[in-house]
Amino acid sequence: MSTTSDKKRVTVVDAHDDSPADINIPDNYVQHTLKTQKPLPPFKWSNWRKEFNWISVTILLATPVIGLIGAAFTKLRWETLVFSIFYYFFTGLGITAGYHRLWAHRSYNASLPLQYFLAIAGAGAAEGSIKWWSRGHRAHHRYTDTELDPYNAHKGFFYSHIGWMLIKPRRKPGVADVSDLSKNPVVRWQHRHYLKLILIVSFLLPTLIAYFGWGDARGGFVYAGVLRLCFVHHSTFCVNSLAHWLGETPFDDKHTPRDHFATALVTIGEGYHNFHHQFPMDYRNAIKWYQYDPTKWFIWVCQQLGLASHLKIFPENEVRKGQLTMELKKLKETQEKLAWPSNSDDLPVISWESFQEQATKRPLILISGFIHDVSSFIDEHPGGPHLLIKMIGKDATTAFFGGVYDHSNAAHNLLAMKRVGILHGGMRQGIDEKVIPPSQRLKIARYNELSSPYNSSTAYSDGEGILG
Ligand SMILES: [Zn+2]
Ligand SMILES: [Zn+2]
Repeated sequence: MSTTSDKKRVTVVDAHDDSPADINIPDNYVQHTLKTQKPLPPFKWSNWRKEFNWISVTILLATPVIGLIGAAFTKLRWETLVFSIFYYFFTGLGITAGYHRLWAHRSYNASLPLQYFLAIAGAGAAEGSIKWWSRGHRAHHRYTDTELDPYNAHKGFFYSHIGWMLIKPRRKPGVADVSDLSKNPVVRWQHRHYLKLILIVSFLLPTLIAYFGWGDARGGFVYAGVLRLCFVHHSTFCVNSLAHWLGETPFDDKHTPRDHFATALVTIGEGYHNFHHQFPMDYRNAIKWYQYDPTKWFIWVCQQLGLASHLKIFPENEVRKGQLTMELKKLKETQEKLAWPSNSDDLPVISWESFQEQATKRPLILISGFIHDVSSFIDEHPGGPHLLIKMIGKDATTAFFGGVYDHSNAAHNLLAMKRVGILHGGMRQGIDEKVIPPSQRLKIARYNELSSPYNSSTAYSDGEGILG
């Protein structure tokens, strides 16, 4: 069905219950939404009772408080400690390998048993259902660092870590489609039984395992249940806060995501977040074998066991292109901090006669068509001043480039800094390597500093050309 307005033609696709939420998204969605949908007024302490998101506040406050009080009165047995660490990784992987890489990003396919395993493990992290979590996370990727990003890092470390859950959201996250998840039977099953699953997997299961395993029900509840949950919470919350704050930007510096080993360490491998935001469909966060990414290793092992398939990897060529872009950017910054020789366009053109005459007053030497004033260098010339003095008023090109001594790159670079003019008719046709000092042969230029075939006056069309 299509409707035609006076101003522009808008094609509206019939939307069904199961069609993507953003099927009819307007082209100017972000701008339009920010302009027309007014956010709730900023949070004020005078109104905190109404503004708090009480379910989140209770869970996020109760776990550390109960956990710490419990720990003060419960002896930590080594079996319980080992089990708690294991259980931390189990429930954490439910979020990183399940919620994040499988469901939010579809970075691989998981068999039904693996999906149930991850859905159950993820419920033990008590961070909302897969569907709710993935909805927010897809908006985070699509509208990173904007008002439509539910955990916008520009609102500060605390906000992106936990603040966004403690108060009622000021506005709805930007639209992001999760219709694929709405059709997934495992996601639907988890959503339906979510509350029961939290209680069973977060608290009941670790208590029972510790009780039947080594008779430590209370330790199981306190350490593997409550305190472990608190750790999983803050560990995964670090992906939204620490990973948008600490580290390097080796692939793109347009937005806040960063790469850092420390973040990877506390987030089960989700710390290479600059890479992740560039290549979100990649099942890896760390691309080097020695970088810490247990989530990637887990998915890879699942593939070896036949439980996972179609692991997505972004083309290496494009990954390296991103890296190169950032490296060039850094090199350009270094380049801009250095002093460079005058351009031939900025130098006066001097006749041979004038060169001869001026060379009687100051030490001028001709090399590769450029006239150089070597007065500040005569005494410092490593070969001795006499070799320069005898070349004053002469063409020393042959002597400089190997005739007498094959000068170093450094010598050529320094020489170019002493240019004061160009000899009329002294430049050869085309660009000779001798004219460009070594430091400038690979000079980095922005696209608009280069002569482009797209804006060249020599480009033309005869109207009959066919692109091959
Ligand atoms: Zn992020
Ligand atoms: Zn992500």
